[in-house]
Formats: sequence, C-alpha cells, structure tokens
Amino acid sequence: MSDGKDRPAGDQAGYAVHLERLKVQPDTPERSYESASMHELLLRYQRFRDEIFPARKEEFLKLAGEQTPQVLFITCSDSRVAPDVIFQSEPGDLFVCRNVGNIIPPYGEMLGSTSAAIEFAVRVLQVKAIVICGHSDCGAMKALMHPEQVAELPTVSAWLRHSEPARQIATEYYSDLSEDEFLAALTEENIVAQISNLETHPSVASRLRRGDLEIYGWVYKIHSGEVWGLDAKQGRFVALDSSLPSATRPPRRRAAT
Ligand SMILES: [Zn+2]
Repeated sequence: MSDGKDRPAGDQAGYAVHLERLKVQPDTPERSYESASMHELLLRYQRFRDEIFPARKEEFLKLAGEQTPQVLFITCSDSRVAPDVIFQSEPGDLFVCRNVGNIIPPYGEMLGSTSAAIEFAVRVLQVKAIVICGHSDCGAMKALMHPEQVAELPTVSAWLRHSEPARQIATEYYSDLSEDEFLAALTEENIVAQISNLETHPSVASRLRRGDLEIYGWVYKIHSGEVWGLDAKQGRFVALDSSLPSATRPPRRRAAT
C-alpha cells in the first residue's frame, strides 16, 4: 500500500486508481501486510463519503439521532483485533470500549473511561450483553509475564495491576507450560479476572441480579481466526461454534426464611 504515499491529498487520478484496486476478487488478497498510511486512510474516507454513504444514506440517517446497540464489546486496543471484520458488525451494532489488555478496573478503584463506558452502556443503553474479548499474542499479557520490560512505562505498569490475579494464578498453576502455552493460559485467566472485576460495578451487579444481562468472555486467535469462549458451566474455554457459551453465573436467589 505504498503507491499512494506520494500522491497529494485530493488527487483524483490517484483516487480512481485506488478505487479500482479496492475492487477485491474473492481469491485476491485485498492488501499487503503493510498498515495503512494517513494518505491511504484519506483515500478510504473519500470512498466512504462519495460511494458508501450515499448508497446507505437511509440507514445512516436512521442512526443519526440515536443508537440502540445490544452489546457492549470490551476489547484490547491492539490493531489486529477488528470486531467489525471478525463479526461483520455494522454501525449501531456494538458499543465498543477498547484499552490496553481489555482490562476492567474494579469499581471505585479507578473511575476512568472504561468504568464510564460500562455504566453508560448498562444503565442508559440497557445493553443485553457484555463481551470481554482478549486475543492471542497480546502485548499487555506479555508485559504481565515480563514486568521488567515495562518498568520504564509507569502508566502501563500501574494499569496492569488490575490483571494481577491472572498473573498470580497463571504463575502458580501453569509454570510448567511452554512460553506460548503459558501466554495462552494467562490470556484466558485475564478474561476470568476481568469478569470478576466487571461484576464489582454496581450497574452490572444490579442487572445480573435481575437476570437480564449476560456476560461473555472470549479470546480471539489471530493466527487461526477462531474465537474461544468461556463456558461457565464447564469452567473452561471452548471454541465458539453453533452454541454460545455464557460466562454469566446463575443469579443469586435469596433463601426463604
Ligand atoms: Zn492486546
């Protein structure tokens, strides 16, 4: 994708060439592994403004005044995790919250943007489900394995404290695994730890008690394109197929007195 780098913004000839190249054949790779430059993004925006938006104008106008997503999707900031590609989600489908390591600070400890996104999605948007989606080869999980590598990154180091239960469990139970397998196990344990943190948020706890909110804990495997999900009943992660394993524990019921 380097051939567009030297063209000035608004170069219509270059734009036309670009549009031609975007006409993907089923067996033709659309793009190289080089990430998009700012100029490439500008060309794509022009295509959106001139072709995609006019073709889907009614749909976008319906969304102009309100959003009613049913799913809060919390995932890592990693550029390789692209929910709109993996799940073919469309505008209005997912309320997305991204951060380093798909981490959820326990309620009250750090009232930042992640906690605000959860509160807004659960109380105002009344989403029906929350997905916490980690991924393979996660830099945050690697940093959790090797904290010395982020010693000079005080903000990252402090943020990763919210994953400490996962690190401790992985160290105690999976230390005999290879480095790759340990990383995979740690990534899953992080999902479990973040679900526990999520449940400390009053808005979430209340909806779980009411029984009208589901939590899902997923791991996206970049190398295979698979998504694995935590099955609370089985107590392990399973490959998503036709069924949808839930990570939600059954709502508590008050014992009769
Ligand atoms: Zn990551």
